[in-house]
Amino acid sequence: MLLCISANIFNAALSGTVINFVNEIRYVNNNEHAMAMTIFDSMQNSGVVSDAMTMVSILQSCASLGALQRGRNIHEKIWTTHLDINVYIGAALINMYARCGSIEDSQKVFDKMSERDLISWTTLISGYGTHGLAKNAESLFTQMINSGIKPDGVAFVGILSGFSHCGMVDIGQIYFNRMTEVYRIEPTLEHYSCLVDMLGRAGKLDEAEEVIRTMSVAPDSGILGSLLNSCKIHLNVQVAERVTEHILSIDPENAGWYVLMSNIYATDQNWNGVARMRVLMKERKLIKPPGWSSIEINGEIHSFLVFDRSHPDSTSIYHVMRDLETRIQAEGYVPDTRCVLGNVAEDLKLDMLCGHSERLAIAFGILRTDEGEVLRIMKNLRVCLDCHTATKFISRITGREIIVRDSKRFHRFKNGSCSCGDYW
Ligand code: ZN
Ligand code: ZN
Repeated sequence: MLLCISANIFNAALSGTVINFVNEIRYVNNNEHAMAMTIFDSMQNSGVVSDAMTMVSILQSCASLGALQRGRNIHEKIWTTHLDINVYIGAALINMYARCGSIEDSQKVFDKMSERDLISWTTLISGYGTHGLAKNAESLFTQMINSGIKPDGVAFVGILSGFSHCGMVDIGQIYFNRMTEVYRIEPTLEHYSCLVDMLGRAGKLDEAEEVIRTMSVAPDSGILGSLLNSCKIHLNVQVAERVTEHILSIDPENAGWYVLMSNIYATDQNWNGVARMRVLMKERKLIKPPGWSSIEINGEIHSFLVFDRSHPDSTSIYHVMRDLETRIQAEGYVPDTRCVLGNVAEDLKLDMLCGHSERLAIAFGILRTDEGEVLRIMKNLRVCLDCHTATKFISRITGREIIVRDSKRFHRFKNGSCSCGDYW
């Protein structure tokens, strides 16, 4: 199986775009990544020498799983076996470090590369973007052009998504126009998605809707979902209802949209609306996808579902989590129960919040790592407002840096604040 993944990824890399590169990876789910690692270990133990293709493939698995320690070991192996850090291995290393939460290491790899191509530059630009460091991404973008490399559509997706994560709307629009007018690149759905996300999250919901109405490609559920998320941030029920109707006409089987609209109604205290969404979900037999978070400890990935009690250290984990809850409440943290679905009793809502999977992963990290060690958490959904606030407090009272990769971007919590500046 490893060889088959390896070939697909390598072919995608050869085709020259990071988007293809990334799409190939998306087909490989987490279990397959874990299995790829096991096969890789057996190959190593039986003395099989790994080639560049295998290294690119296994680095992608480390990136997807957020397995930084494993990724570092592979990097070391590349050095010790004198494998040439060509543009493919270079990009895979930059991507692995960025997606595992260490953008500083991505930069170091990039700096040491003797040859850099569009993919190397674009991978680092996108990395800075997802880390919310749009200024670094922009400066790199300029350096790339000055070095004689012409940006393509993928490079623009990288820079635009960076601006979108940081709320840099004006400069984002300048770059979008530059892409079409100076570089004559036809915008794709991905570029429009960045633009809609940028405008929507800045509260310009009408302009975002107008982009979707007038763009040259048909909208998918992703771009509409990003606008729906903006409606949640700015609590605009009217636009949200319109967008939901559109989304459900093209993607009726995805429970996530019903849950998102239901949460918007809940924030607006519109319990009839919440009930309506629940009935629709029930009629269509849809189940909310489970949220999970994971953390790597000593090279091993530990995953937690919401309210998970299956971990062997579960009792101690819940003990640490309750203790943290008490300590942060004493420091002024007030649980925000608005993001809990429905009008359930307040004390039950509190319990539901504490069971959010990243809180379990953080508690486990505190339990099993040394004082002051950085905690790196991966999660499959967006971080909720309450967990974001709680994590800020936890970073302060424990003196820990906590890096969370959610489904959209990185949050780096340190000393009571987050690198996203509470804009996500
Ligand atoms: Zn949460
Ligand atoms: Zn944040």
